[in-house]
Amino acid sequence: MKNFDLRYNNIPKAEIHCHLEGAIRTQTIIDIAREHGLKLPAYQVDELNRHVKVYDQLHDLQAVLEAFKIFQDSMVSPSAVERIAWELFEDSARQNIKLFEVRFSPDWAFHGHNLDWDACLEGLLRAQQRAERELDMVIGIIAITSRSMGADSCVRTVDWAIRHRQHIQAVDLADGELLYPMSDFIRPMRKAREAGLKITVHTGEDTPASAVIDTINHFMPDRIGHGIHIIEDMQAVELVKEKGLTLEVNPWSNYLTNSVPRIEHHPLKKLFDLGVRVTINSDDPEVLETNVNNEYRIAHEVLGMSLEEIRTCNRFAQEASFIPEDKKARVRKYFQ
Ligand SMILES: [Zn+2]
Repeated sequence: MKNFDLRYNNIPKAEIHCHLEGAIRTQTIIDIAREHGLKLPAYQVDELNRHVKVYDQLHDLQAVLEAFKIFQDSMVSPSAVERIAWELFEDSARQNIKLFEVRFSPDWAFHGHNLDWDACLEGLLRAQQRAERELDMVIGIIAITSRSMGADSCVRTVDWAIRHRQHIQAVDLADGELLYPMSDFIRPMRKAREAGLKITVHTGEDTPASAVIDTINHFMPDRIGHGIHIIEDMQAVELVKEKGLTLEVNPWSNYLTNSVPRIEHHPLKKLFDLGVRVTINSDDPEVLETNVNNEYRIAHEVLGMSLEEIRTCNRFAQEASFIPEDKKARVRKYFQ
């Protein structure tokens, strides 16, 4: 549930793990569908929410696939991308998010309507510049390469991100860790690193600690998406600490996707207490019907973290952010 409790809302925030494709307002899906003659299962917000939101813990993947299909179908033009991004930045600013990194998979998000990636990036950049001007926040951009789209897609995405490295800070290897071997992606991800892009990898979400260890050894990432299952192996915990890696943790997402069976057993606080640099993020705030305030509520009220500890997580996020240092400096005062 979206949360605007002032105890959480008043904390200046850094969010570094949020997917554009999982962050489209329901009303916007309806507006875009009407404008472009797209078919939806419903045209009222309340009714459509039943198709585009995951409220309960998933026992079958079909619900979330349907939601993402509708979200993908909403990316009809560069101006739609601009609107979706702008609204996400507005929703972030409303929660007092001062430093924000948005990520998206160009091949996945834009191939449905066969859109030009460069034109879509321009739309996103217009929203970014406006938000940085009007909303007292700084924004970074991460290009995702989706494992499920294959090795060729990874090569294309990395080359594209390198071409736009003035605007794109990092590449994220995401989705389907169980189904696709990491060996297919090592070479292009290495190329991204050599070109000066930062690397983050989704791992240890629904895979064991050993997957995180392999990922660290093969990709030398700067950060880890999720990584929560390292809690099952102290060797993995030590490796993450030794490398100074920051985990991008998304508690409610981990519960809904059944990566942790019960929210009260989420290892966020345990990892924090062990000295791991954990950060608290929303992942897909519209699909999962959450926001960062809600993640803080869970951290504080369910997992027992103090507000001071949550502020420390914000400092970790600010320090590990891929946004260039000169730009970060504009909001550093909020995280001291
Ligand atoms: Zn994610």
